[in-house]
Amino acid sequence: MRRRARPILGVDIDNVLAQSDACLRAMFRELYGIMLDEHQMTRYDYMTYGVTEEQLVRVFQLFNTEVCRTLRVVPGAKAALVRLARCYEIALVTSRNPESKAGTEYWLRAKGLPYDQLHFNDDKHALGIPYHAFIEDRHEHAHLIAETGATVYLLTRPWNAAPLAHPNVLRVETWDEILDHLL
Ligand SMILES: [Mg+2]
Repeated sequence: MRRRARPILGVDIDNVLAQSDACLRAMFRELYGIMLDEHQMTRYDYMTYGVTEEQLVRVFQLFNTEVCRTLRVVPGAKAALVRLARCYEIALVTSRNPESKAGTEYWLRAKGLPYDQLHFNDDKHALGIPYHAFIEDRHEHAHLIAETGATVYLLTRPWNAAPLAHPNVLRVETWDEILDHLL
């Protein structure tokens, strides 16, 4: 009974739980010699930085089917999620292509990251899930989710530096800061 009453905490995966951007930039470097620095990534769109559509499709296909099994966990994310899972129903909501489902589930299990629901959908705000709060790194997603009434914690990344434009979106630097808000 008590567990069913937990409020729902939405959590993104890439660049919130998993160090995906670092891995993707390493793939562009190794496969195509394209050198991208994290700090230049003021847009989360690799094609802005010289990656062709064909290269992007190939890299994401490899990422989704194989490489996503090997990602590093964002510092502090695991300990925080374990604590939050005692108080919240954890709904992982990712824009990843569903072809990554097996690899994503493998990685979550391998890293010991607890969750109750897992959704592959780019329209995170439109799934009818009554989020109490959401943890996200994409500026546009954060603002769409904030419109549903949830509080959104936006983990600072180079690509989300634009000013915040909704009172429900709060900028945070670390998972520890998120725990201060949610526990
Ligand atoms: Mg993300």
